[in-house]
Amino acid sequence: MRIGISGTPGVGKSTFIEALGGHLTSQGERVAVLAIDPSSQRTGGSILGDRTRMTTLSRDPNAFIRSTPSSGVLGGVGAQTFATRLLCEAAGYTVVLIETVGVGQSETTVSELTDLFLLLVAPSGGDDLQGIKRGVMEMADLIAINKADGPNVQAATITQNDYRSALSLVRPKWPDHPTDVLLCSAQERSGIAEAWDALATRWSTLDQSGRLANVRQDQAVRAFHRDVTGGVMKLVADLGEQTGVEQLEADVRAGHVSPLGAAFRVVDSFADRL
Ligand code: GDP
Repeated sequence: MRIGISGTPGVGKSTFIEALGGHLTSQGERVAVLAIDPSSQRTGGSILGDRTRMTTLSRDPNAFIRSTPSSGVLGGVGAQTFATRLLCEAAGYTVVLIETVGVGQSETTVSELTDLFLLLVAPSGGDDLQGIKRGVMEMADLIAINKADGPNVQAATITQNDYRSALSLVRPKWPDHPTDVLLCSAQERSGIAEAWDALATRWSTLDQSGRLANVRQDQAVRAFHRDVTGGVMKLVADLGEQTGVEQLEADVRAGHVSPLGAAFRVVDSFADRL
């Protein structure tokens, strides 16, 4: 099972994965945790996939944790994580959790690599929906309001209701299997088994109806297209002078040629070589 997990920094992702990972290994599963960290590209520092964030799980012989480097990787983050995920599965890990911070494109990358997508949210006490984009809600198979403990319980319940109403306004991911919104506390380890049961039930339903196989096939074909595009872009960059890309870049910058016109010239120069 391939599960994507996303949420803003501080929402409790590592605490949640530590709790969920322990729950799964205690049931005999072997768990791999991969992290896609968009921050490491810019800052060089990593805020995800750090073993020190999941101290118990990192010592568990049935768990494997690693961060996917997001810069300077051939084929990009998606291709790199795709390959790492494949290796983990070949090595006998039965559940692969792919974690990312809820910013930018990273949720899309994760949802392209996983069967199900879990969105973690913190209690907000009824104001806005914490800037969560519609697209991310449409991607979610399950939303868990974390930190539903102690004085946060009331705020968590309000947030749960807010998300339930918001979900009724977005296009459902699977119309016959509505996305649920649950409460949990990663710290107190409550609601973790329930969240897993909800994911596992959904996974089995999709598997039995053949939809999971379709999702995976479509993902593989999109990965293929993405890698071809990446390969061609790299070829264009490597050929540099010969394809006139550098001159065309300058011309586009100066407004002497439209981006589309310049792209056609590059494609034509390739076609001439074939
Ligand atoms: P991440 O940045 O999303 O990985 O978040 P962390 O797992 O590092 O947690 C951020 C902070 O929230 C830490 O201080 C955690 O102890 C705290 N935290 C995580 N889960 C819970 C929870 O269920 N309840 C409460 N009260 N605090 C939590």
